[in-house]
Amino acid sequence: MNKIIFVGIVVIGIFILSIGQYNAYSSSASKTEFQVTVAYENHLSESCHCVAFRFDDISDYKNEVKIEVINTFYKKHAPLTLGIVGDRFGENEKLLNYIKGKIHDESFDLEIANHGWEHEDFSTLDKVQQTQLIKKTNDKVYDILGIRPTVFIPPHNRINDGTRLSLQENGMTHFSPSLRVDSTKQYPLSNTNLYQFPAYVTPKEPESELKWGSYTHEKRFSFLKKSFNKFGFAVVVVHPLDFTLFKDEKYLDEPNLGQFHELEALIDIVKANGLEIVPIGKINSKISPAEPIIEEKSKKIMREWVEETRTDSDFIDTLNFLREDFVILNINVPNNVKNSQENIPTWFKNNVSWWLEKKTSTNDFVNSIDFLLKNEILII
Ligand SMILES: [Zn+2]
Repeated sequence: MNKIIFVGIVVIGIFILSIGQYNAYSSSASKTEFQVTVAYENHLSESCHCVAFRFDDISDYKNEVKIEVINTFYKKHAPLTLGIVGDRFGENEKLLNYIKGKIHDESFDLEIANHGWEHEDFSTLDKVQQTQLIKKTNDKVYDILGIRPTVFIPPHNRINDGTRLSLQENGMTHFSPSLRVDSTKQYPLSNTNLYQFPAYVTPKEPESELKWGSYTHEKRFSFLKKSFNKFGFAVVVVHPLDFTLFKDEKYLDEPNLGQFHELEALIDIVKANGLEIVPIGKINSKISPAEPIIEEKSKKIMREWVEETRTDSDFIDTLNFLREDFVILNINVPNNVKNSQENIPTWFKNNVSWWLEKKTSTNDFVNSIDFLLKNEILII
């Protein structure tokens, strides 16, 4: 044990020394040769290390598939948030009894959320109308399920300036619209009485075209990882029709088995990456120090770079992927340099190697990249 600590101190010492030396002779040269601008942004300090699944559009219509979806989460011991459409729910005995049973099952964390009264677009309503409709659904859900929702899922994901007040007047504590990642925003994970935990949607595609079936579970995981790295949480949206068999130009009340497998695979990959599944209302109760997720394929390329079977240019490309995934936030943008392979100091390879061998943490690794970028030793 003592030996390990000693070796660790020596290694850190060498690292600090080598940064100092490199910096001493490189900084003046790099500053005069390239006009470099560094965009500074702080890393997250805390994170939920979790993913919430939102099952929207819970109405009486096509109950078999809905029961099957909820049951998939139940079998996987994965908590779920159900978005109930007030006026369209409560008449179907089978679905109602199934949900009642699962609410009282202590082994399953099933959260009941408010998803509007008639699935109306709240962005077109004034504050008074919104307050009334939220209350109407909450009252009805309380009557039939004995639970007063505190989580609101805006129908069509739309809200306006009146929504927050309407929610607070109804005692709501959480809401979940959707977003494209906006790097200027943050969503507080503590110290607020109304938490906003949006679902992440892909940056390039129009929201209306976001069909569950268009993506594999790997791709979906790569989307939610961006949200996790940027905001410290991720919310995944699923809809009943995503899992409904479409045959002869219509949806049947039968499961689309391929999509159920994708859902199970996504739940597995989330758990395999060490993320906990929680309902939306519990995201803020699971906070710990943040550490970004870096996918195995990026680690593999970096390992090969350390072993010198990959070029510096491959390594720089990987750092650019990490930037897209919000692992690296501080970016220097050179005005007249395309890439900078020759600028990677050789000692940095040791750093990468220690991290890959789990001798240092991901945060240490990210901080060392930040150091190189801030000091313009490395330009990506
Ligand atoms: Zn909806």
